[in-house]
Amino acid sequence: MNEPADPQVLLSHHLKKLRLPTVLAEYAKQARQCAEQGIDHPRYLLRLVELELIERERRMVERRIKAAKFPASKSLDSFDFKAIPSLNKVLVLELARSEFIVRRENVIALGPSGTGKTHLATGIGLAACARGMAVGFTTAASLVNQLTEARDEKRLLRLQAALAKLQLLIIDELGYVPLSQTGAELLFEVISQRYERGSTMVTSNLPFEDWTSVFGSQRLTGALLDRLTHHVHILEANGDSYRLKQSKERQNS
Ligand code: ADP
Ligand code: MG
Repeated sequence: MNEPADPQVLLSHHLKKLRLPTVLAEYAKQARQCAEQGIDHPRYLLRLVELELIERERRMVERRIKAAKFPASKSLDSFDFKAIPSLNKVLVLELARSEFIVRRENVIALGPSGTGKTHLATGIGLAACARGMAVGFTTAASLVNQLTEARDEKRLLRLQAALAKLQLLIIDELGYVPLSQTGAELLFEVISQRYERGSTMVTSNLPFEDWTSVFGSQRLTGALLDRLTHHVHILEANGDSYRLKQSKERQNS
C-alpha cells in the first residue's frame, strides 16, 4: 500500500465508516500518552478499543433508559429502606441484580398509595437497563389506551410484537381505574403472551382478592393471576404514605 499524503484525513474517514467515533476522538491523545509512557503498539490499540467498547456500552444503556420511558429517573440509591420496614430489602436488592429477568420471572408489588411502589419499579427497571436489557414502563391505564388505539387503527399485532420484545415490562398502577371488558381482555392478552417468555412487573394498590373489580370478570382475573403468579416474587409495601409522612415532617419542623 502507498502511504497516503495525509493519513489523518483518510483515517478519520475510515473510522467514521467503521463507526468507531471514540477511536477517532482519542487516537491522537492516546498516542501521545503512550509514547510518553513507553507503551507499545498492541497496548495502545487495546486502550483505544477498550475506550470504544466502554463508550458504546454507555450509549446503549442511555438508549435503553430513554426507550423505557420511566416517569422519573429514580434509582434504588435514593430509596430509604428504613422508611418502610415491612418491605423485604434483601429481595429488592436481589431483584435489582436482574437475574429474575434472565429466568423470565415476574414481580408484583402491592401496597397502598405513596409507599414507594413506583420508585421501586423504576429502580429495578433502571438496574435492568444498566445491564443492557430492554425494558418498558407504563401504567395499566396507559397500556390499555395504547392497546385499544392500536386495535382501532389495525396495528395491534405490531404493538403486541413490540411489547413481546421487552425483556421486562413494568405495568404500574393496576387498580386505580376499572377496565372496560375489551381493555381487560387486551391487557390479559399481553400478560398471557409474556408468560414464560419475558418478565412482567405489576404494581397495585389492591390485594389480589380485589383484582376482579378491575378486570370485571372472575374467570379472566383467575386466568391472569394464574399466569402472572406461576413464577413470581411478591413485594409488600405496607405502611404509611412516604409523601404524607414527609409533608407532616415539614409541618412539624
Ligand atoms: P406509590 O407508587 O407506592 O404510590 P411512589 O413510589 O410514587 O409511591 O412514592 C411517592 C413519593 O415518595 C415518590 O417521590 C418516591 O420517590 C418517594 N418515596 C416513597 N417511598 C420512599 C422511600 N422509602 N425512600 C425514598 N423515597 C420514597
Ligand atoms: Mg405509584
